[in-house]
Amino acid sequence: NKNILTVKDLKKHYPVKSNFLNKDKKVVKAVDGINLAIKKGETLGLVGESGCGKSTFGRTILRLIESTSGSVLYNGNNILSYNNKEVRSLRSEMQIIFQDAGASLNPRMTLGEIIRTPLEIFRLAKGTEVEERVIELLNLVGLNESYIHRFPHELSGGQKQRVGIARALAVNPKFLVCDEPVSALDVSVQSQILNLMKKLKETLNLTYLFISHDLSVVNHICDRVAVMYLGKIVEIAHRDKLFNNPSHPYTKALLSAIPIPDPTINRERIVLEGDVPNPTDPPKGCRFYNRCQYRMEKCASIYPSIDKIDDNHFVACHLYHKNG
Ligand code: SF4
Ligand code: MG
Repeated sequence: NKNILTVKDLKKHYPVKSNFLNKDKKVVKAVDGINLAIKKGETLGLVGESGCGKSTFGRTILRLIESTSGSVLYNGNNILSYNNKEVRSLRSEMQIIFQDAGASLNPRMTLGEIIRTPLEIFRLAKGTEVEERVIELLNLVGLNESYIHRFPHELSGGQKQRVGIARALAVNPKFLVCDEPVSALDVSVQSQILNLMKKLKETLNLTYLFISHDLSVVNHICDRVAVMYLGKIVEIAHRDKLFNNPSHPYTKALLSAIPIPDPTINRERIVLEGDVPNPTDPPKGCRFYNRCQYRMEKCASIYPSIDKIDDNHFVACHLYHKNG
């Protein structure tokens, strides 16, 4: 399968406001040299604790925030060098679905008006086609045409997320960043929305970057999973490999925290010591150094490169470096 998106050495460093007493210009390295490729038609999960940089990554690859350096190839073109006009046209290719769908819907607009807006901005329909297309989009996300005249406050959380998805799909995008799209919903509603997203991906040939802190959600929907810690990818693998053979010590700890349905399997919960380091001053070598039970001397000073340990399985950890 061809790559729809290839990210090379992407960085996003934010300056931290310094006062006159504090002369050092500190930066938060929210995204600190990420390389990955997303294949056409797949769902790539991006997991990690809050603050690890996953949302910043998702917004940077869409040009919703400007990067510090690196490149993002979308179908072979480096979109980081696009001018404003080109970025605008990119919006009909790449869209985002937010966690808090409710907050992203204008409370004064009916659902019909909300979904119609992108159709008008991108001149995708005119006259009677507009209403037909709005109804088609509502039906696509499982809402009937009576919803056209309703307002956001009349909807449940799951229905709001359906409208958020319909609005994103209005422009016929090919690639979607889904940033914690079900995290605010009840578990029963979560699986309905995840199943809807799966179905839409198949029928509309979409590709997803699916950002989540919840590994059970990721297990439900993703083909491959990337694990992020303090601005870096520490492990990336096919979903089954990641869940059956987690290899980076951080991934092992994350997985040990999710309940297993089979009570005969006795898996010990790994409780991480220490806190996530201050992102303005991350450890020099492996970012996970201060919390890792396997740390070695070289881990403090040498950042481990990400290496292949198996087909479709890459890990950034010195434990897997054969030649030191
Ligand atoms: Fe632990 Fe060292 Fe591997 Fe980092 S590189 S995860 S500190 S063993
Ligand atoms: Mg986030």
